[in-house]
Amino acid sequence: MPSSPSAQERRNARVILNRLTKLYPDVGTALDYVDPWQLLVSTVLSAQTTDQNVNKVAPTLFERYPTPEDLAGADPEDVERIIYSTGYYRQKTKSVIALAGDLVDKYDGEVPADLEKLVELRGVGRKTASVVLSEVWGIPAIAVDTHVKRVANRLGLTPNTDPVKVESDLMSLYPRDRWVEISMTVIRFGRDVCNAKKPQCWSCPLRDRCAYDNKTIRPNR
Ligand code: SF4
Repeated sequence: MPSSPSAQERRNARVILNRLTKLYPDVGTALDYVDPWQLLVSTVLSAQTTDQNVNKVAPTLFERYPTPEDLAGADPEDVERIIYSTGYYRQKTKSVIALAGDLVDKYDGEVPADLEKLVELRGVGRKTASVVLSEVWGIPAIAVDTHVKRVANRLGLTPNTDPVKVESDLMSLYPRDRWVEISMTVIRFGRDVCNAKKPQCWSCPLRDRCAYDNKTIRPNR
């Protein structure tokens, strides 16, 4: 995608996003949270699992460790036991304890509303930071995860696979006030319809806009 997309490319991108927003009018994360701190930790835990799985363990975790200070001093084995069912529990335990420690050391336990500051925290990548910024503060950001990368490529919205370049291509295609919608709708679409192994192309509302060569045209194929 050129750094300055043509009017035709922008129009195509707009049609795609309009259809996704129609498909998912209730955009937003499915993670339950009461404050930015909880959403930050839950977003880290949501890697490689569903938001529903995280919602099952989060109440116990935050009851036991309500503040960043509490979690920073947690016994890793106890945290592992609590979050076990979300998968990759050892790595995730290390991440959330380190993240809590950084939050206390660098920002007095307050989650900063700033992407560059958020990614300074261990365990927080651009995707997690973007989700928190857009969800909590409505700050325009595009979270590029594996779903956004795959769907954007298949739909021809970007030729790139590097997340930072994909993010930049999408930012050049869409106005700022629509950035929040992109990650939320595309992530869901990537999970529900345009999944990695067997995309449901036979019923896809974007089929006429899609350049992907290996479409699954029948459910039994
Ligand atoms: S047609 Fe298939 S590959 Fe293309 S966007 Fe739809 S589900 Fe994905």
